[in-house]
Amino acid sequence: MLVTGIEILRHAHENNYAVGAFNVNNMEIVQAIIEAAEETNSPVILQASQGGLKYAGVEYIAALGKLAAHKAKVPVALHLDHGTDFQQIMLCIRHGFSSVMIDGSKYGLEENIAITKKVIEVAHAVGVSVEAELGKIGGTEDDIVVDEREATFTDPKEAKIFVDETNVDYLAVAVGTAHGVYKGEPELDFDRIKTIKEMVNIPLVLHGSSGVPDESIKRAVSLGINKINIDTDLRIAFATAIKDFLADNPDNIDPRKILGPAKKAMKEVIKKKMELFGSVGRA
Ligand SMILES: [Zn+2]
Repeated sequence: MLVTGIEILRHAHENNYAVGAFNVNNMEIVQAIIEAAEETNSPVILQASQGGLKYAGVEYIAALGKLAAHKAKVPVALHLDHGTDFQQIMLCIRHGFSSVMIDGSKYGLEENIAITKKVIEVAHAVGVSVEAELGKIGGTEDDIVVDEREATFTDPKEAKIFVDETNVDYLAVAVGTAHGVYKGEPELDFDRIKTIKEMVNIPLVLHGSSGVPDESIKRAVSLGINKINIDTDLRIAFATAIKDFLADNPDNIDPRKILGPAKKAMKEVIKKKMELFGSVGRA
């Protein structure tokens, strides 16, 4: 069933586990995520980035996501990842997304609060949950590039002000992760996660979670992370499976034969993540 993001994440927040939010770009990825969620009895969030919407079109992504959610035996939310444009966010809401992110992290605190409030006013009026971001998460997420030197950690005091003033449903925090593939091993600021959680007491979101060691993810979840975004790890599984299949079967031209192993590889990665996040059996 299709549910709002906060319905899924409030339960995770109250019961101290995290739910995976996996980026979708086509049918096979949607199916891999839903099959993994059903096989592990896990709630799940399908999310589309602006790049994903540009690639597939908002109508296709919304139709795929809603159909998958309605057919699924587990709770599914359909979420816009890193929305930066008010009109596009409204378009996603109109097409049935049950959760949206407004990423105002490139602005100062006051302006971030103002644009987040503007989205929340509309979204909450129609029962759609909202994620915002405070602090700057480094790396590259489609068209959004944040240089390592510009990345700044979330200030817990600012987070408290931000949450009180906006009434945001869940907050993405910058605590040492980055988008894309890591060069070294990321070091998370666990004390910061703990302090922010104590001060805001709402679900927290970890971006750039692909490639973060399992032990760090577990600890972050135990301290209050409730939504974990995964994109890069799925891309790696998808591309590796296709390359391997075509290396072994260079003459095969059947899209189903080529994409089938990629779907299976993604599903295995997703199931492992669900296990790690603690969402298995929570649906
Ligand atoms: Zn992100």
